[in-house]
Amino acid sequence: MALHTMKFGGTSVGSPEAIEQVLKIIQRDKAAGHDVVSVVSAMSGVTDSLLKTVSAAIEGDRWTYQEINRDIRHRHEEATHRLIEPPSEREATLVEINRLLDEHLQLCEAINILGEATPRMIDAIISFGERLSSRVVAAALDSRGTPSKAFDSSQLIVTDNNYQDAEPLWEVTSSRIKQRLVPAIQEGISPIITGFIGATPDGTITTLGRGGSDFSAAIIAAYIDSDDLTIWTDVDGVMTTDPRIDKRAKVLPYVSYTEVGELAFYGAKVLHPKTVQPIITRNIPMRVRNTFNPDHPGTQIGADIVPSTSVIKAVTSIRSISMLTVSGKGMLGVPGIAGRTFLATSRAGANILMISQSSSEQSFCYTVRDSDANAVKDAVEAELKAEIEHQDVDGVEILKEVVIVTVVGGGMRGTPGVAGRVFTTLGNHNINVISIAQGGSECSISFVIEEQAIEEAVICLHDLALAAVENVN
Ligand code: ASP
Ligand code: MG
Repeated sequence: MALHTMKFGGTSVGSPEAIEQVLKIIQRDKAAGHDVVSVVSAMSGVTDSLLKTVSAAIEGDRWTYQEINRDIRHRHEEATHRLIEPPSEREATLVEINRLLDEHLQLCEAINILGEATPRMIDAIISFGERLSSRVVAAALDSRGTPSKAFDSSQLIVTDNNYQDAEPLWEVTSSRIKQRLVPAIQEGISPIITGFIGATPDGTITTLGRGGSDFSAAIIAAYIDSDDLTIWTDVDGVMTTDPRIDKRAKVLPYVSYTEVGELAFYGAKVLHPKTVQPIITRNIPMRVRNTFNPDHPGTQIGADIVPSTSVIKAVTSIRSISMLTVSGKGMLGVPGIAGRTFLATSRAGANILMISQSSSEQSFCYTVRDSDANAVKDAVEAELKAEIEHQDVDGVEILKEVVIVTVVGGGMRGTPGVAGRVFTTLGNHNINVISIAQGGSECSISFVIEEQAIEEAVICLHDLALAAVENVN
C-alpha cells in the first residue's frame, strides 16, 4: 500500500464529464489499496474570469462582474447536480457554493466603491476558483462511497506576503501539514485540497503565481512523505516541443528534474517552474499524465540525468520578449553596474529570463517580458543616472518583440559540439541569432532571435531532438 499525491489541472476538473474521469482515477487507486491525496485547480477559465471581475469592479462595471459571478455560480451548481446523487446529498455543497460566491460579490462591491484593488484583494478574489472546485470534487467523491473532505490550503501552506507570487515558509508549512492533513489521511479520508492558495501567518489569503497548483501539489507531496506525485493534465506528457508549432511533437518517456525545470522556466506550459523544488531533495518520483487518456503512461520525471543520443531532448520558446542592452565605454572594470542593473530590474517587478555579456565587458544584455520593458528601462536609467551623466554608460537600449528559444537536454556539460550543432543548424536556415546564453544547470542553451523566425528555428532544432526520441521508442 502506497501514499499517492495527485494534482488535477483546470481542464481535468473543467466539466462534469471531466470530473467523472477524476473520480474514476482516484477510486481506481483506492480500490488497489492505496491512499490518495488530491490537489485541484479551479475549473478551466475560472481564474481568468475572476481576474476580469477585479478589473470590471475597478472600472465600476457592475454588470460585468455580476454576470461573471452568475456564470461561475451556474457552472458549479450544474456540476453539483450532475455529479452528486441522491439530490439530498447536494444541499451542503450548494449552500457552500452560494456562500463563497456571495462573498466574492461582496468583495467586488468593495472594490467598486474604492475604485482600486490592492494585490491582497486580488488574491482574495482569485482564490475562489479552487475553493469552489475542491468542494464539488470532494462531495462527489464522498457521495460515491469514497470518504472525502475538501481542504483549503490556506490552512496548510503558510507563505510570505508577496501577493500573487507568494513564497512558502517551509517550516510552518511542514508542521501545519503534519498537524492538519496527515491525521485525516490516517483516518482513511481522501482529501481534496485547493491548489494555488496559501495564507500569511496571520491568515490572509495569498496565491503562489499563475499555474501554481502544480507547486502546491509538490509541497503537499513533500510534507506528507508521498511515495510519488502525479500531475494529471490534458496532454499525454512532457513533449519534445509545442505541438502547435510542430505537429510531429512526441511525448518524452523520461526527463530529469533539472530538464523539466528548464523546460518549465523557458515557456513549456506543462508544469509550474517551481514544482520540482520541494520534491527534488526528497527524490519523490513524479509523472505527468493525461486525465483523458489514463492508459497512456505519460512522462516519468526523476533525479537521474539520462542523456539522449543527440543530447538535445526538447525545444521550447517564449514569445513577447524584450532585450535590454546596457553599454558604454566606461563600463570596463567598473564593478557593480550589472548587479545594480539587475536589482533595479527586480525592484521594477520584472523577471529576468536570460542574461549574456560580451567578453569585452563594454555591454551586457538581458531579457524581460515586453510588458515590463519600459518600466525596467526607466528604473535602470534612474539607478545609473550618475554613470550616464558621466558618459560611462550610454544608456539602456530596448529591442522589442523578440523571442527566446531554448534547447534542453541533460549531458550538455560533458558533450562537446552541442552548441556548435545548434548554431550551425540555425545558420543553415539563415536565422540570425541576436544573443546567446547557456543555462546555469548546463542542461540548456537559450538564444534570442526575431519573432518572425520562431517557427522555423523551433522546427529545425526539433529535428535534432526527434531523431533521438525515435531511437528510444
Ligand atoms: N487556477 C490557477 C490558474 O489558473 C492555478 C492553477 O490552475 O494551477 O493559474
Ligand atoms: Mg497548469
